[in-house]
Amino acid sequence: MRLPALLLVFAFASFAAAAPARAEDGDVLIQAGHEGRPASCAPHHVTACNLGTGAQGAQEREWTVIVADEATSALRAAGYTVLRRPADYDGRDTARAAVFIHFDGAQPCASGASLGFPETTSRSFVDTWEQRYRAWFPYRFVGENFTVNEHHYYGFRKVDAPEKMLIEFGEMTCPAQFAWMAPRLHEMGTRLAAFLKEQVPR
Ligand SMILES: [Zn+2]
Repeated sequence: MRLPALLLVFAFASFAAAAPARAEDGDVLIQAGHEGRPASCAPHHVTACNLGTGAQGAQEREWTVIVADEATSALRAAGYTVLRRPADYDGRDTARAAVFIHFDGAQPCASGASLGFPETTSRSFVDTWEQRYRAWFPYRFVGENFTVNEHHYYGFRKVDAPEKMLIEFGEMTCPAQFAWMAPRLHEMGTRLAAFLKEQVPR
């Protein structure tokens, strides 16, 4: 009898359509800040469609993609499952660590590098990154959770992970920082990958 089989297929298709489009498990989640905007805002009902900063013809959302892609390929080459995410996406993921990549914009040179994280992130995860990055980045480190947006970043709610951290690698609107960072975006990615390999051993 053909009808029940057809109904079963139909029921399954309906269930699949109702489920979140994406919700995956991985070792590490890496989000490139602002990637995919502005196009992704309307379909995801994002009313505060923050496009990120920019300077000298370069957009933050181009730089974040370079760093995120570099870190992702280094981790995948080492056998890690990486959930590589843009600014807006469906579903809620699970990972062992999640990092969200940004660059800051401010009154020129009023800012620098910084970090944002929820209370659940371990002190050692934050300290290790902060010490390493401060030893390499020759400009200001402006602090931890120094804005509400950093402390309560929307991306933190889209993943279950014991370690979550938003990284502002530096201030694009400061010409000296821009000049130092521009040729080092790939190295930022490899440094981030090395940190994550150590923090989340396979
Ligand atoms: Zn940003």
